[in-house]
Amino acid sequence: MSRRRPGRRPASPAAPVPAADPAASDPAAPCPCGLPASYAACCARYHRGPSPAPTAEALMRSRYSAFAVRDREYLLRTWHPGTRPARLDLDPGTRWRRLEVLSTTGGSPFHTEGTVAFRAHCTERGRPGVLEEHSRFVRHEGAWVYLDALGAP
Ligand SMILES: [Zn+2]
Repeated sequence: MSRRRPGRRPASPAAPVPAADPAASDPAAPCPCGLPASYAACCARYHRGPSPAPTAEALMRSRYSAFAVRDREYLLRTWHPGTRPARLDLDPGTRWRRLEVLSTTGGSPFHTEGTVAFRAHCTERGRPGVLEEHSRFVRHEGAWVYLDALGAP
């Protein structure tokens, strides 16, 4: 995902700041990416483990989960060095709620490029928001990384 913010800016900064996804503090919680597994058995393997995501979709899901648990380091590590921002600020007022993967092209262990179209649902200080993106992924030094966005699907 890019740094593009979904929805509008909040009208009132006084609204309570939501906590990160429960998986941020409990690895046994359901994985934020929506696959039927615990965070520990799903995206945490890529966030914390030595093995990279095997497909572009797995990387995209793990990056969504990284937004949900606010793992800034993983987001930067899986961003292509040519497009990676110098720094990444995660809005503490945004809580990521649900991910829908709409379509994919390429991106398998046998490809070097792939795209994933998705819809990510969030709340921004209580207001519902949605981010749609058609993301492009490439292999960099053997591992899938996020390159850029092609635009809304
Ligand atoms: Zn996951």
